[in-house]
Amino acid sequence: MSAQKIPVIEIPKGELKKFDPDNFSFGKNFTNYMLEADYINGEWTKAVIKKYEPLSLDPSTAALHYGQTIFEGIKAFKNEKGDVAIFRPDQNFIRFNISAERMQMPTVPSWLFMEGMNQLVALEKEWIPNGTDASLYIRPFMIATDPFLGVRPSQTYKFMIILGPSGTYYSTPMKILIEQKYTRATPGGVGFAKNGGNYGASLYPVSLAQQKGYDQVLWTDAIEHKFVEEVGMMNVMFVMDGKVITPSIDRGTVLKGVTRNSAIILLREMGYEVEERDLGVSEIVEAHKKGLFQEVFGVGTAAVVSYISKLAHGDYIMDFDVDALKVAPALKKELNDLRMGNIVDKHNWLVHI
Ligand SMILES: *Cc1c(COP(=O)(O)O)cnc(C)c1O
Repeated sequence: MSAQKIPVIEIPKGELKKFDPDNFSFGKNFTNYMLEADYINGEWTKAVIKKYEPLSLDPSTAALHYGQTIFEGIKAFKNEKGDVAIFRPDQNFIRFNISAERMQMPTVPSWLFMEGMNQLVALEKEWIPNGTDASLYIRPFMIATDPFLGVRPSQTYKFMIILGPSGTYYSTPMKILIEQKYTRATPGGVGFAKNGGNYGASLYPVSLAQQKGYDQVLWTDAIEHKFVEEVGMMNVMFVMDGKVITPSIDRGTVLKGVTRNSAIILLREMGYEVEERDLGVSEIVEAHKKGLFQEVFGVGTAAVVSYISKLAHGDYIMDFDVDALKVAPALKKELNDLRMGNIVDKHNWLVHI
């Protein structure tokens, strides 16, 4: 089933929306077409690219009740020459299937996820905004579709890909509160999977932090709240005494970010020492007291590199002069240059469309 072309149901010309580059926002505007396929009797079938439109679901649809839903986030870019490329989608494909297995859902084949995505993006090239930070956001997802209220793995599923233009995600530097009560992920849990429930569960602690004047929380380990894990929906990196330190993914509570992995590789090539290991809140505070804590930033597909201007642990406040950052802006530039085709893609991370 390789390189199988997915049939396209053409939208009548009069119904086609035109992309307005001056008027769109991330997550709100979607392209004309979407991809849809169903898993029935143990196989993926009815794959089609068709008009973006509402779904009709039975109210007892399993995904609406018990959270058997997973997703991915990927970006396609257009450079100044008009060339279109998707950044490392093979890594998202692997992770999607890891998420599927953890949630007792069927894996998706490459012809559906990879070839389907390429075909859809090729069809919607016009919707990729110009500019360094701009992209076409690609959202593959899968939901359990059995109309049945019993708690068991669904026997049917729907896989879809939708696309929407995206500008800069977070523009202002973030203020972050180190979380000391709530948790995002537990050992043995589903923190390494991109399943819907993880994000629903994070909204309440984040809203409490927002009431105190912060933008997001820095998640800590579920057992003692001693070790740092992630910042919001991003991986987190610290610069201390010139070294870059990022939490290890070994406990299964830190999502294996594609941006995180790319950043580690690029930073090492740029000459930085990068450590992947457990990092204690106490170590961070000690480094700050000694004047050795230089930078902290988030990394992820949505925001690429997000600067942090304030990090608080209870009453202890650590401030960062965003204009004096070195590593985070250098990494951001390297990633953007790579994605825009300004530097040689020696790792073959770009899939050209
Ligand atoms: C998606 C996500 C990330 C970032 O992963 P990327 O592959 O870099 O986009 C980090 N943490 C969480 C919890 C996420 O959901």
